[in-house]
Amino acid sequence: MDDLISLDRKNVWHPFTPLQSTLPMPLVTKAEGVYLHTQDGKRIIDAVSSWWVNLHGHCNPVIAEAIAVQAQTLEHVIFAGFTHQPAIELSQKLLSALPSSFSRVFYSDNGSTAVEVALKMAIQYWHDRGEPKRKIIAIRGGYHGDTFGSMSVAERGLFTAPFSDLLFETLFIDFPSPGMEDDTIQQFKELVNRGDVAAFIFEPLVQAAGGMRMYSSSCLDTLIGYARDASVICIADEVFTGFGRTGKTFAIDYLQSLADIVALSKGVTGGFMPLGVTACAKWIADGFDSPALDRTFFHGHSYTANPLACAAANASFNLLMGAECQENIQRISRQQLEFSLSLKGNKKIIDARTLGTILAIEVKTNHESNYANSLRTTIYNFFMERGILMRPLGNTLYVLPPYVITREALTYIHKCIEEFLDQLA
Ligand code: PMP
Repeated sequence: MDDLISLDRKNVWHPFTPLQSTLPMPLVTKAEGVYLHTQDGKRIIDAVSSWWVNLHGHCNPVIAEAIAVQAQTLEHVIFAGFTHQPAIELSQKLLSALPSSFSRVFYSDNGSTAVEVALKMAIQYWHDRGEPKRKIIAIRGGYHGDTFGSMSVAERGLFTAPFSDLLFETLFIDFPSPGMEDDTIQQFKELVNRGDVAAFIFEPLVQAAGGMRMYSSSCLDTLIGYARDASVICIADEVFTGFGRTGKTFAIDYLQSLADIVALSKGVTGGFMPLGVTACAKWIADGFDSPALDRTFFHGHSYTANPLACAAANASFNLLMGAECQENIQRISRQQLEFSLSLKGNKKIIDARTLGTILAIEVKTNHESNYANSLRTTIYNFFMERGILMRPLGNTLYVLPPYVITREALTYIHKCIEEFLDQLA
């Protein structure tokens, strides 16, 4: 096994990880429920749902079985000109949970491509109508993925610096921090009526990678309202927030106003298989409703609508909608909220906040609150020593467990957070 790790060190390139990382690289040999088991006999609680994808626990038997059955029937088929039951079934399930104005789902294979598709769909929509609007409005501090389009509409900084001059120009508005919403709304009003804005993209209610920053649904409602008045397509990037994380199936379920396009991925398959989904309202799909090649959406990936991924997604969706999972989401949400309230006034933190199952704690620091903050490694190591996988966003630590986490395991994570804060100078 040690040989494997040295081969990994030699040959494998890991994402978001310096090639000369000083952190240990545990070799995971199996996983079950909320636990990862490593080759050196450790058991680690996956408090980040493996980069926010896992919903029902690792190796959930229902999803595993659905994939196994599918693998013996149809593992994959080209999705241009052919179709299959798991993809059709999934489209029905997702459309039943999305606003009734939605009529189509377009499949891809990860969150970045789901966003890329959303942006291209919006721009081509206006192009095909002979009203070529090219600009996108986005919120500062956002993250939408690692492809060029998704980088272009995200915060420019550490992640995008080497590519900055190659990214297309985006119109940014300030993050609507509590108390500052009116400023953001004012900036938006000035931009949205320029006449050349194709779309407004946002992470609804929570900017995830940007530090689990939360903002009010009423502010987002107002922004969407102005966008609609100006015929600007509203794209909700629910790649992170989708499938129960915020306490509702989708974060847009907290809104009065309607988004026009929704990008989904991560939790869609319960964390088993890569899949991206871009769903759109009927009026957008109607813009493409033509036999003409020049009105065709020329976007597709080899693994579009992979049947194994769709089978996993169908099984995961059924579990998500079941009473047991819905109760778990409510239980976790209550427990996270209670813990967050218990931290109010704690001198070691800037803020503790929750939305649904998501808990985020911004730890006080002498440096700027951002991803590169050195507390990141300190926090990571502290929790790994206690058998908890926590990947803080700089000085912001967060707990985003699979919904099968027990009350006891979540209490243990909370106790370790208290211990961490107590020992800070
Ligand atoms: N959008 C949001 C809101 C995300 O959080 C992420 C991933 N963290 C993405 C898009 C990109 O998803 P993926 O990593 O699957 O490409």
